Amino acid sequence: MKLYFYCSSCQEENSFKTKAKDRFELQKERGNEINERCKNCGTVVKRRINRVHAKPNKWLLIIGSLIGIVITFIITFSLPLIIIVFAVPAVFGIPFIAWKAEDKKASAFNKVMVSDG
Ligand SMILES: [Zn+2]
Repeated sequence: MKLYFYCSSCQEENSFKTKAKDRFELQKERGNEINERCKNCGTVVKRRINRVHAKPNKWLLIIGSLIGIVITFIITFSLPLIIIVFAVPAVFGIPFIAWKAEDKKASAFNKVMVSDG
């Protein structure tokens, strides 16, 4: 999952990748604070675990929909109508379901706070 935090110096949003599914796991992995270098200004940012947040990956939805449009375009000219009627919702449904799952994971992460002294 990708986690986000704001730089204390330039307020730019930064992200890093982790295997942690919640803040407890992140705390185990990183301690009470994360130490990451800001990609924008280079400042080493210290952020408490509770100040780090998760966001669903919007590219899943954007790229999924673009692929969906391309597939729809191709099958419209090559398959019978009855198949198109069933295929199109599936083609657009899959990226949407994947994005919903991401969204659920992200809000589960954001809901649970840890005590960090
Ligand atoms: Zn910065």
